[in-house]
Amino acid sequence: MPEGDSLHRAARKLQVLVGERVGVETPNPRAAAAVSAATLDGRRLEAVEAVGKNLLLRFEGGLVLRSHLRMSGRWQVVERGAARHGQPWLVLTGAEREALLWNGPVLELSARGTRRLGPDILADPPDLSTMVANLRREHRSRELGDALLDQRLVSGIGNLWKAESLWHARLSPWLRLENVTDDELELVLSEAARLMRSSLEQGREQRVVYKHAGRPCPRCGARIRSRGQGDDSRTAYWCPGCQRGEGPRGA
Ligand SMILES: [Zn+2]
Repeated sequence: MPEGDSLHRAARKLQVLVGERVGVETPNPRAAAAVSAATLDGRRLEAVEAVGKNLLLRFEGGLVLRSHLRMSGRWQVVERGAARHGQPWLVLTGAEREALLWNGPVLELSARGTRRLGPDILADPPDLSTMVANLRREHRSRELGDALLDQRLVSGIGNLWKAESLWHARLSPWLRLENVTDDELELVLSEAARLMRSSLEQGREQRVVYKHAGRPCPRCGARIRSRGQGDDSRTAYWCPGCQRGEGPRGA
């Protein structure tokens, strides 16, 4: 039954093709309707990973083929050109081997979800130095609060924990990355990890600023403010009295 274990086995089997430019065919007409083989044909297969109940095949150029095996699907790796009996859904042909997908009921090609996730904030221990390095590669004028929600850089921080961890670290969400030191980045990330872990373990959320706009800050008494931040205009909450840095641009 293609549940977790067999998906991981399939991902392992397919590693032999990773790094190769592969020929792609969709002998099964239903597969041909779902996936344009021509789009993938000749691209380098960059990674194969089992994620949840899906197998994700990442191709160069940011294309991702998602294969969900349901109950019947099966991946097989054989010598290139080996005799076949039947009509596989998909064939990936490398220099020496071929991967065949049999009965793959769900196949989907997308350019979405191709962005790799940053390190998990709830990992134990969290990989803070990679997160800091990821943040450092962003444009220097990007706002700290906006960058903390970017799942490519750090995965797992939502709007609530962004607001709370910035308050604990005494940093304004509006600070530009160029005005934040590495130590400060590490501080806000470790606050996020600490707060989120304790919320997970105790099952309750301690909120100081999130959705508390207009109330006095428990640390300095200034009124907590709120305003939309970033392309999605998700609401940032902060205390202008004790969180270092500027307010929103143009405000
Ligand atoms: Zn304050």
